[in-house]
Order: sequence, then C-alpha cells, then structure tokens
Amino acid sequence: MTSLILSSPLRGYALDLAEVPDPVFAQNMLGDGVAVDPTGDCMHAPCDGLVISVHASRHAVTLRADEGAEILMHIGIDTVALGGEGFRAHVSEGQRVLRGDPLVSFDLDALLPQARAVVTPVLLTNPEQFRISRRETGKPVGVGEALFFVEPLDAVMAGAAQAQGEVCSVDVLVPMTHGIHARPAARIAECARGFVAEATLAKGDKQGSARSPVALLALGVRCNDVVTVQTRGPDAPEALRALVDLISSGMGESAGAETPPAPAAPIIAEALPLPEGWLGGVTAAPGLAIGRVRWLRHVEREIPSFSDDPARETQRLEAALADLGQRLNARTQGEQASIAQAHLALLGDPDVAEATAGCIAKGHSADYAWRSAMRAQAEAMRATGDRRLAERADDFLDLERQILALLAGEEPETSLDLPEDTLLLAEDLLPSHVMALDLAKVRGFATMRGGPTSHVAILAGGMGLPALVAVGEGLAALEDGALVILDAGRGAIDSAPDAAALAQARDAIAAEAARRADALAAAAEQARTACGTRIEAFANLGSKQDAEVAMAHGAEGSGLLRTEFLFLESATAPDEAEQAAHYQAIADAMQGRPVIVRLMDIGGDKPAPFLPMAPEENPALGLRGIRVGLDRPDLLRSQLRAILAVQPSGQCRIMVPMVASLAELRAVRGHLDAVRAEMGVSEKVPLGIMVETPAAAVTADLLAAEADFLSVGSNDLTQYVLAMDRGNPAVAPGIDGLHPAVLRLIGQTCQGAGRHGRWVGVCGGLASDPLAVPILLGLGITELSSTPAQVPAIKAVIRSVTLEACRALADQALALPDAAQVRALARSFQEKLAFQEKLA
Ligand code: PEP
Ligand code: MG
Repeated sequence: MTSLILSSPLRGYALDLAEVPDPVFAQNMLGDGVAVDPTGDCMHAPCDGLVISVHASRHAVTLRADEGAEILMHIGIDTVALGGEGFRAHVSEGQRVLRGDPLVSFDLDALLPQARAVVTPVLLTNPEQFRISRRETGKPVGVGEALFFVEPLDAVMAGAAQAQGEVCSVDVLVPMTHGIHARPAARIAECARGFVAEATLAKGDKQGSARSPVALLALGVRCNDVVTVQTRGPDAPEALRALVDLISSGMGESAGAETPPAPAAPIIAEALPLPEGWLGGVTAAPGLAIGRVRWLRHVEREIPSFSDDPARETQRLEAALADLGQRLNARTQGEQASIAQAHLALLGDPDVAEATAGCIAKGHSADYAWRSAMRAQAEAMRATGDRRLAERADDFLDLERQILALLAGEEPETSLDLPEDTLLLAEDLLPSHVMALDLAKVRGFATMRGGPTSHVAILAGGMGLPALVAVGEGLAALEDGALVILDAGRGAIDSAPDAAALAQARDAIAAEAARRADALAAAAEQARTACGTRIEAFANLGSKQDAEVAMAHGAEGSGLLRTEFLFLESATAPDEAEQAAHYQAIADAMQGRPVIVRLMDIGGDKPAPFLPMAPEENPALGLRGIRVGLDRPDLLRSQLRAILAVQPSGQCRIMVPMVASLAELRAVRGHLDAVRAEMGVSEKVPLGIMVETPAAAVTADLLAAEADFLSVGSNDLTQYVLAMDRGNPAVAPGIDGLHPAVLRLIGQTCQGAGRHGRWVGVCGGLASDPLAVPILLGLGITELSSTPAQVPAIKAVIRSVTLEACRALADQALALPDAAQVRALARSFQEKLAFQEKLA
C-alpha cells in the first residue's frame, strides 16, 4: 500500500495535535493531524496538489493533494482576528503547487505578541477517505522533512482483508457530539445489516455487534473516542467501508467549531445543584420513597438460531403470539389497558409478520425470527430521531422479551421475586416489567436511561409509583442492598441518607399517605378555595379508560381531550364515524360533564403514522398543531363534524392547539361555522384556544376578544419560552414551568383574557403539580385540568388556600430569578399551610 508523505510546511518543532492550546484543534474537531511550532516565517506546500482555499485573512490555506487527501494549514491560534495583517499569500485558489512551494509568508516577530499562539496545526480534513498511519512528532522538523503519512482507506481495508483472510479492521474516530447514542447506534446497525459480513465495534476491551443498537450503546462510546470496526465475511471490505464512512460522516451530529463536545451528562448536575451524595434524574412520576436498592439486570436470552422444520417454527410462533394476545386482552384497567392495546396492534403488524415468515423460511428458528423482527422495528423507531417514536422502541423490545419467554415455555411476566421495600434500579425498564411489579413490595424505581414521556413513565404515574429516569451512569454507584431515599418529585436520589434524613422522609411519606386518603375521600366534592371561590378541577384525557379513572377521582369535566392520542396507532386517517364513536364514548363516560375536545395536535413531538409529513429540521417550530389542520381542511372539517355529532349537544367544547395568531382562530371559526351550517347546528359551540406559544400569551388580549376561553398548555409554553426541547433528556431538568418567565406570561394571559371576561385554565403539566397550583390561582387561573389520578390532590390544594394568599405568593414568585427559587418559595408556602392545618 502506498502512503502519501506530508512534509513539514514550516521549520519548527513538531507536536501532537493534543498539545495545541485550543480544543477545536486539540480535540480533532476540524480534522486529524499534527502541529508545528514555527521558528521559520514561510509556510510551504507539504505535497503536490491544488490550492482549494486561501482564507481571506491569509492565515490558513487548504490544499488537495494529487492523491485526494485534503490538508488544512492554519498559522497560529485566533489569528483570523488579525485580519491578514502580517501575512502575505504567494498563491491563490485554484493554483497548482509542488511540494515545497511557498504558500504564505508571515512576520513571526510581529505575530508572537499579538496571537494567542503561533503553533500551526496541519490537518487531514477528509478522514472519511484517508487515515494517518504515522506521525513524526516530538522533534524539530525542517521544511520538506516528513511530518506525517496518510493512506487511502480503500487500500487500508483491502490490505486488512488480504492480511487477515476475510477479516477487515480499521480504527475510526467518532466525531458525533454525543458519541454513539441511540440514533447513531440505530443507523450503524441498519448499515451493518445491509451486508452479509458480521460486523463488530470495539472500544477498549469492550466489543459489540454492529448490528445491535443495544450492544453499541453498551460500549459507551463518546465523542472523539477511537473505535475499532471489524468485519468478517464475503463482503467484509465493503461493509467496513460503509461503516467507516457512516461513522466518520458524523451523521449530522459532528462537533463543529461552534459546538464543542458536551461532557457525558453534565446538565443534570449543573441544572440541579444537589447536596453531596445525591444523584439527579428526571421525574417520571412524583413521590417520595425509602427502599433498598435492587438491580434488575438485563440478561440476553440464549436462543437457537436455526431450525430445519419451518412449519413447526411457524406454528410455535403463532401459538406464542396467540398466548400473548390473550394475556394482553385480559388487561382492562387504566393505562395498562391502553398500553396493552398498543402492544396488541404491534403484535399483529403485517410488516412484522412478513419479516418473521421470511426469516423462518430461510431456515431460522421462530425465536431468531422474532428477535430479528423486533430489533429491526426498535432500531427503525430509534433511527427516526424522534423522541416519542424512540421511546416506542422499548415496546418492541418488551414484546421480544415476552414472546421469547413463551417460546421457551416460560411465563412472560414472571413477576420479579423482590423483597419488601425494594427500590428497583435498572439501566432501562420495559413496560411489562413495570406492569408486573408487586406494589406491595416495590416502593419506586430509577433508571439510567429512559424518558419522562415513555410508556414506563406513564405506567408509573398511573400506579402512583415514584419513579426517576435518565439518571445516567452515576446510578451504577448504588449497590444492591443500599438503603436510599428516592425523592422523585425533586428529581433526585439520596444515596447515603443519615438517620435524620430517613426519619424525616418516613414522616413525609406517612403525612403524604394520610393527605392522599383524605383527598380521595373528598374527591367527589366540588373544588372551592378556602375563601369560597369556585375553581374547576378537570382532568386531561387521551382515552375512554382515562375518562373512567377521571370520574373515579372526582373530575368535574375534562379540560383537554388529546384527540390525536386516539389515533396515534392508526395507519389511515380516522373517518368521521370512527372519530364520533370515540368522542361519544368518552363524553358518555364523563356522564354529561363538560369535555373540551382539542383539535388534533399532530406534528412536532406527536407524529401520526396516518399523516406522514416531510422531514423538518425543527419539527417543534414547523408544521404542527392547528397549522396542520389549516393545511388539511378536509381533516379539520371531518373532525369538527365528528365533535358536533356528539350527544347531548353542548357537552363538548372545542379547543385549538398551537395558536400563534388571531388569523388562525378566525380561520378555524370560519370552518366551524361552515360545518355548523352544513349540519344545521344552530347552538353556538364554545371555541377556545390553547396558549402554548409566547405569541399567544402576549397577545392574549387580542385573542380573547374572539376566543370563548383560553387554556395554557404549559408544556409547550415552557419549551418555547425557555428554548428547551421538551423531549430532550439533556435539558429536561431545566424545563420547569415554574420559571418566572413562564409565570409572567401566564399572568399576562390572564390579564389579557380578563379584559374580555374570558376564563383561563391550565391543561399542561403545571396543573398537575400541587406546588404550582397556589401560584396559578394567584395569577388568575380558574380551571385546572390535571392527570386523572391527580384530581383529588389538586382539589385538596385548592381547598387549602385563599385567593388573597395566592395572589401575594404569585407576586413574590414573579419577582424571583429562576424556577428553583420559585419552587423553594412554593414549598415553604405549602409547609406553612400544612403547619396551620395542624394547628387548626
Ligand atoms: C401542553 O403543551 O401543555 C399541552 C397540554 O399540550 P400537549 O402536552 O399535548 O402538547
Ligand atoms: Mg402542547
């Protein structure tokens, strides 16, 4: 294999790039290479080639060698700021040069006092095609002496294949800012599966199959790690090439000069300054728990790969699917029922059936076929890069686990044999793990990974089980048997509580249990503040089961029916009759109480398979909410007709999501009036808006002139006000609706609406947060729509406060600088109330 020798462009001392005092170079963000600390004052061509760029400030030149390698030479650090002063270019773009030709002269003496450093990186900028095989550093170099050697990757791979039979191997630098996390892992796996060759990635002494995103994630590869890609099989060189190209490309996530690589999990620690010995995470379900650590470790099940009896394998798989189908159908309660229904839909997926049948026909076992199909689906979900879909990947892995258990003749939901007072820890949990937890024994759980909107989090909320997700690798420090306090509401674990902390937590848990029991006992009574003001305590719904839970918990109506949730599994747009049937069933379950039906909020974090949309760079800022409805008036009108068909008429009100301007509300009203006329509906149907954009909040006075009511979607409002993606676990701890900026906008919304006598509610997550409720009431909110099971607790808070005290509290909160201080204020307000209650 022929190497290209890059000779030193400068006289000086050759250094490793890591010694350059700028992370952009030292961390290879612009390319791999070496550096020269110059003693000479002219930079020369390191090889024959073409000048492809001369920077306007003349401090940097890029050459393309005749062999194709691209070499950037950058004289000094931050020398761009000199604006070309002291540099003289001898070449221009497009000019051909020979090794040793002068490129740029510079005044080294003038440069030394002005530049941050004069050390000159010499970089290979197309590592997807070449790699550096040798460097001559740590010694003086003269112009023209060898500095480093590069080899074309094709040759490296062919050489590797030749040298090792069918095995090829190459080291590659990982440029992705967040290393190999779920999305790149899914893409690497997808790429590896396109070849016959087996492929592995190795980091240090850890190795994993390149076809398995899970195995790739387990390598814990970070930005700028070097991994060894190895392929073995008939198309090994091609597979190696494709994998190396993919990884080197950065998959759109490379650390650029403006985005230095983030440390692994810094934000949790930075955003939540926790006392020594505490670990931070993201709240999946609030609550306090004391328990002994018990790790649930995932063990990959050994399965047979091949079978010579396809008919038998098909029959085994069918039997296992039927068995699991029956078990899922038997789940009829709350969240478990809706998740079981979603799993049933996945079990019957035709693509999965086709994939498994094809795999069995090729001589594989049912177990192998099922695992391959589920992993492929999970990878596809993750590869979308969409948080909601990525969290669905777990559902496939869960179905894999359960079917493989049944194929092996075991129980799929073997309830874990856990001791009393267990605090379950895991890298990740699957929905069926959570469903199988024995609530008499498990006090709560925490996971390294996961997201707050996963099915696991939803289940935990429904079960009232304190749960924390996305704690990160630090969780591994907790050992089996350790006694810890999980303060899920605070998003933290006290890993080594002392006796006083334990006693305090025990008291708090007992007091909370008593409060819950009292709240539940009084759930059916109307909510009024202690000073007698009526506040509507509503519930958010996404299904008929939610409506049943809401009614059992004393909800006085629904402040948000998320209609898109009813059809998120549908491959085709739901027709009018299907929609009407769903809305009617929910209205019936609410027994005549008001139901605010939100028009479908599709797009952004809620993609719907039945409405594929063109990829967007910023989906949260793209076609979502009512923008989709106005773009597809056929769908909008069919939904309006379905809502108007619900009996008794007047039970349903209509709410418009993601409004940013009055024109949108007017357009929807135009469609509504047209549909009413068409259907002969003479009664006015209340039409309100969600306040989810800062625009809606600041123009609430204009919107309220025409909207019949306003409801704050605090989840989105917080995301847009704080510029933090609500689905991004990296910023999750910072997304707090109690941030004063969000509260000020809510206050402004109430004032604007008040000018036209309109009521304002909250249907985002803040309405379920007992700490937030007094502040919201103080700002002027008169309706709170919480999660169904939380209604009694919210009613209890409403009953415990006077509006006067709430207003004073809100005034104080608005003057604070951050959410943490607002939370502290709200906590002390709550403690004061509890103390007064005790005295009373
Ligand atoms: C919100 O944004 O607060 C809201 C209630 O809507 P969703 O969470 O469904 O986007
Ligand atoms: Mg929203």
